[in-house]
Amino acid sequence: MAASSSPDLTLYDPFARMQLLAPVCFLCGTPVDPARDNVPVFAPWLLERYGLADKEIRLLDQSTTTFGELMIPCCPRCHQQHVGALEDRVEAATADDPAGLRQLDEQTMFLWLGKMFYGIFVSELVREQEPLIKPRYPLAENRQLFSRFRSFFQVLQALRVRMEYDDFTPGSVFILDVNLGPDEPEFAYDDDLATMVFSIRLGRVAIISCLLDNDMLRHVMQRVYEDARARPLHPVQLAEFKARVYYGAYLISAIPEFFPRPVKPGDQVLVMDTFLDDVTGSVFNPWDNMAYAQTLEELWLPWKIDLRTILQNPREPLSYLYDADGYPRTIAEFPVA
Ligand SMILES: [Zn+2]
Repeated sequence: MAASSSPDLTLYDPFARMQLLAPVCFLCGTPVDPARDNVPVFAPWLLERYGLADKEIRLLDQSTTTFGELMIPCCPRCHQQHVGALEDRVEAATADDPAGLRQLDEQTMFLWLGKMFYGIFVSELVREQEPLIKPRYPLAENRQLFSRFRSFFQVLQALRVRMEYDDFTPGSVFILDVNLGPDEPEFAYDDDLATMVFSIRLGRVAIISCLLDNDMLRHVMQRVYEDARARPLHPVQLAEFKARVYYGAYLISAIPEFFPRPVKPGDQVLVMDTFLDDVTGSVFNPWDNMAYAQTLEELWLPWKIDLRTILQNPREPLSYLYDADGYPRTIAEFPVA
């Protein structure tokens, strides 16, 4: 087979020579002029549909920028052929109803969430380089975080390189319906870089994802997920579900690593294998109710539910997803009558 008919299956590694902040395409490493060649972290259709362009987003250093200003360098080719094509698919799937997200295949969903998450990570790093910024916990010095993002970026390159994940799913994705009150915004988003958790809500459809866990969280949370997706949740219930994902992701002790199989002439797709380094024999650290309750308290801030209330029964933290007998609850309003 002629070389020209074989797709380029070479991976780019911006972490090898720390090119993360260089003026190069985030996806392929081609030198670009970032003032001209860039791609918005949150797609233009998303900004437009939810009126986000001028909406503020808070960064780790407590500074604020707007959703519309978050950009990462991207060459015209990757922009058009890869990022643009992906966004077109997601835009089309959700044009009538955000519930159309469920029609997307797993890889498309992973790449769509992953592109935003990676874009935020890079934007945070860029911020740290500004001379007046003195972050309390600089990302750039966090080696563990970097090795996580390096692994994550390998599978994220399925955006550009035709890639198959052999018998694994790199992240856990949960999609839930939520009953919004009249004051609830149409769009919501939060993330935690350290635990690789990203969550976004389009109207009544919420996606919560741990982007680097080889689907382990979805596996251990299978029952909770099935119960939660069986009915639209009250926002206080969605917050509890998110607390379980955030805290669960924090407990993961084994971080997946990925390995591309050697490419033979004529190969049309790059196959990725995975390896879970669980030398301790367990992939999750033990659950601690106190630590979980603190996560819950943080996510329940809008409802002002304090730690004392959450831990009234220290062995069974307060739940709005389940009643005292372990059955799924339906909550129409808060406070619960
Ligand atoms: Zn590129």
